[in-house]
Amino acid sequence: MILNHLLTPALIGKGQSMPTIFSSTQHAPTPSDSAKTITQAMDRSPVVIDINPEKHAFISRDSLESPYFPTWCPGCGNFGVWTALKNALLELQMPEEEVVIVYGVGCSGNMADFNRVYGFHALHGRAISNAVAIKAANHKLKVIVVAGDGDTYGEGLNHFISAMRGNHDITLLVHDNQVYGLTTGQTAPTTTKGTPTKSTPFGAPEAPINPIGIALTADATFIARGFSGNIRHLTELIKQAIQHQGFSLVDMFQPCFTFNKINTYHYFKERIYYLDEQSFGANHKVAAWEKTFEYDKLPIGVFYNDPHSVPFHKTLSQLDVGPLAKQSISTINMDAALAHYS
Ligand code: SF4
Repeated sequence: MILNHLLTPALIGKGQSMPTIFSSTQHAPTPSDSAKTITQAMDRSPVVIDINPEKHAFISRDSLESPYFPTWCPGCGNFGVWTALKNALLELQMPEEEVVIVYGVGCSGNMADFNRVYGFHALHGRAISNAVAIKAANHKLKVIVVAGDGDTYGEGLNHFISAMRGNHDITLLVHDNQVYGLTTGQTAPTTTKGTPTKSTPFGAPEAPINPIGIALTADATFIARGFSGNIRHLTELIKQAIQHQGFSLVDMFQPCFTFNKINTYHYFKERIYYLDEQSFGANHKVAAWEKTFEYDKLPIGVFYNDPHSVPFHKTLSQLDVGPLAKQSISTINMDAALAHYS
């Protein structure tokens, strides 16, 4: 498979030079030949991450943005999420070399074209599984997933639950607009029962998914909900989620301005209140569970945060010597295992 087919367009020959992931003995690719160089390097020898790299923190908004301006509808809540995510990466001063964003399919996933960050645009419903694999291959990376409610709670629901049960150290940001926006307005897993949509003109017949409740029962160790209309608050939630050791979910109310005329900015502003203004202790599962059933008023903030969380990769002694991506496979001898089946 050609590697440059897998890279997000924003990374292939666009913008200024990206930080290198090659060893210091290899030349750094220029923007014009970066994809070709990466492909050749894959054919020629293993890609080795520098043992002692010079870190390149995201230092400006320019360093995060691709040459493409978003194609989202004017007024879309995705703009608020996008801004909050960029704020978080800048304020955390994260090394560019250590951040990977995996995108799902949907309007939210189109952010793959607008961020100048190492990224991977996954198949529908498969963003989480790709993120888990990237983290397993190199647990030194900070892996963030940007996906929609349909992608995550519909097509990808099993991956969502599995990643939480394993406490895989990834940050999942879900654009929850309660409709399938990219395909022009069908019922999504989070659509309120009875809501008329393009696919259910007489009202959605099923009860909606309760994302926070599912996360609590699947033992997610950091669970939060934000609102794209409060960018400062959402930025702080995303920063906490990224810094958490283990699986972190930020479900985000993100109005779809075009296809959801019910869950609008006005709808959320009338109902939202802030958990942190209530002296809410985010380490009590039962209290958090009760909050997930509030629908007349909508709490946002951190529902649950396990300070004793141990991420999946820290339970594997095989990784004590370093990331799998850096380990040599030349000393592995499969003969004994294969002989057992011969
Ligand atoms: Fe945003 Fe909805 Fe337009 Fe998609 S269809 S870009 S979610 S407003």
